[in-house]
Amino acid sequence: MIAVLKQGVTEKQRDSLISWFETLGLSVHISEGEFHTVLGLIGDTSKVDTELIEGLDIVETVTRISDPFKSANRKFHPDDTVVEVGGVKIGGGNFAMIAGPCSVESHDQIIEIAKSVHESGAAMLRGGAFKPRTSPYDFQGLHADGIELLLEAKKITGMPIVTEIMNANHLPLFEHVDVIQVGARNMQNFELLKELGRTDKVILLKRGLANTLKELLMSAEYIMAGGNEKVILCERGIRTFETYTRNTLDLSAVPMLHELTHLPVVIDPSHATGVSRLVKPMAMAAAACGADGLIIEVHNNPAKALCDGPQSLLPEQFADVARSVMTIREAIGK
Ligand code: PEP
Ligand code: MN
Repeated sequence: MIAVLKQGVTEKQRDSLISWFETLGLSVHISEGEFHTVLGLIGDTSKVDTELIEGLDIVETVTRISDPFKSANRKFHPDDTVVEVGGVKIGGGNFAMIAGPCSVESHDQIIEIAKSVHESGAAMLRGGAFKPRTSPYDFQGLHADGIELLLEAKKITGMPIVTEIMNANHLPLFEHVDVIQVGARNMQNFELLKELGRTDKVILLKRGLANTLKELLMSAEYIMAGGNEKVILCERGIRTFETYTRNTLDLSAVPMLHELTHLPVVIDPSHATGVSRLVKPMAMAAAACGADGLIIEVHNNPAKALCDGPQSLLPEQFADVARSVMTIREAIGK
């Protein structure tokens, strides 16, 4: 349920209304807009008398929200959320490119790639240290050493780092990680999401292979319900009957999610297609339809990559993609 307050309501009036809602067992999400304050009421609102609240002279309107996601809901928070991390902003008109290898493989590999993507305009560095591989015999990542190498690359380039968590027990290793990625396979690992909701880290939440946008938003809700509202959503392709591409990029997720939620939405054209030559057109299309950012796999030697080589761009190809994406951003007036 949301209650929109009238213009000119004092802080004291607002706070006493909030306290009253809290005595009814509800938690209250406050969104201060330019003209109005929106109070989002979360909990069992079935016994709340809407007419009574609407009758209060400081309340403009009261609306019941039937969507199961509340904190993530655009109706609760009409303005775009801008997630800020290490000086980088994403959302609300701020566009950020995240680039780097699928997995951190060695000191020289990550430092070389980090320097080159930084020069080409990447705002953040990605690199997997814990890799969710289909086969237990494939490279599983460098684990703690991989995170150390990312931190070294961060020190050299100044770029915030993004890396995936697979187990909440590993959280202490992520202390200096800027953005924690929840991969597609863990989108509905609810215990992990709850744990991340208790941290103050920015979370990059990827859509599951076969999950609806509503399910993605409900997973964001798990994180936000714990008090962590710094969530970035990522569409990375879904599984369909198509086989020429690794997944099918659901670009309509961008405008649809922008309608439904205030959270930033980024596109991962690398996992969405699985084919390096398709990354550029899909990255440009993502920028054209209003994505708040991109996450792109880049490797200095894709043929020898330990993970996801076929979809990885060379650093110079990433530079070309970054330029074309900026041209699109300008063309759409951003
Ligand atoms: C990745 O980012 O390398 C990754 C494993 O992504 P996803 O979870 O989208 O498959
Ligand atoms: Mn990958």
